Amino acid sequence: MRDVVIIGSGCAGGTAAIYAARAGLNPLVVKGYEVGGQLSLTTLVENFPGFPEGIDGPVLVENMKKQAEHFGAEYVDGAVVEADLSERPFRLKIEDEWVEAKALIIASGASARWLGLENEKKLVGHGVSSCATCDGFFYRGKKIMVVGGGDTAMEEANFLTRFSDVTLVHRREEFRASKIMLERAQNNPKIKFVLNTVVDEIFDVTQKLVSKVRLRNVKTGETWEEDVDGLFVAIGHEPNTKVFRGQIETDEEGYIISHGGARTNIPGVFHAGDVQDRVYRQAITAAGAGCMAAMEAERFLAGH
Ligand code: NDP
Repeated sequence: MRDVVIIGSGCAGGTAAIYAARAGLNPLVVKGYEVGGQLSLTTLVENFPGFPEGIDGPVLVENMKKQAEHFGAEYVDGAVVEADLSERPFRLKIEDEWVEAKALIIASGASARWLGLENEKKLVGHGVSSCATCDGFFYRGKKIMVVGGGDTAMEEANFLTRFSDVTLVHRREEFRASKIMLERAQNNPKIKFVLNTVVDEIFDVTQKLVSKVRLRNVKTGETWEEDVDGLFVAIGHEPNTKVFRGQIETDEEGYIISHGGARTNIPGVFHAGDVQDRVYRQAITAAGAGCMAAMEAERFLAGH
């Protein structure tokens, strides 16, 4: 039986672990399949306060882990594969083993959707990114391409024009983006739209950087190559809440609905980070949310 189990080892989970550990709650942190969360997929993080020279994303989350362990947090490999939140203590199956928890912090994040190309995975953090706010700065004056036709793609394309001209590639002619976001992008002279087109291949894994992509017009079948330095994949995110479906209240896409502060619909179960936040999705906001969740968990345990 644990006082607090924290699901997720990204910025939100790491910060929740530091706070819960310092409160003497000896939290158990379930690392999840994407150990270290989205930061583990980035290189230099330049917007996390306190690091004037920037810090490597993987180093930042590893430091949080060390800091949490120093105060008594315990990290375990694997993911929660089954959960029973119908009564307290909550029951979680972590791989093969059931664990009980008096309070639970869900910091399991949202995973970026990727195109599914073989080279894409190998180049994430080396020219392929899912976060313009995080990585746009590295492509000042370089060739930037954004993939997607939703609000995120429009927002990221607009944001990235601060640094360079942007080519936006979308697989259809119609857009999922809201009218206002779409028009803003269409009226931006620095954004070129390439429609009915998909990215078929990304080069160059041997150099460990993005140098060009092969595009294909899905209507004509025509293929061609274009030089690219930064490829921003903006085709949506999926919150990692499948295991709690039907128990935790979520919106139609699976994001946890907040009941104020870090509270979910279930007393004793708290949310932190991108699993609830579809707007900001930043390391620092996730860290702040982790702090809130741990403080609420501590108060909840003190009151019960
Ligand atoms: P969406 O699901 O809205 O859009 C995803 C886009 O990616 C679609 O255009 C889709 O194409 C395309 N896509 C999906 N899979 C692939 C693939 N395999 N290959 C190529 N293209 C693909 O996700 P968003 O992240 O844009 O938005 C998520 C939510 O967040 C929305 O509700 C949005 O309104 C909201 N949001 C709001 C913002 C704001 O108001 N400021 C900013 C950002 C997001 P297709 O259309 O053909 O399916």
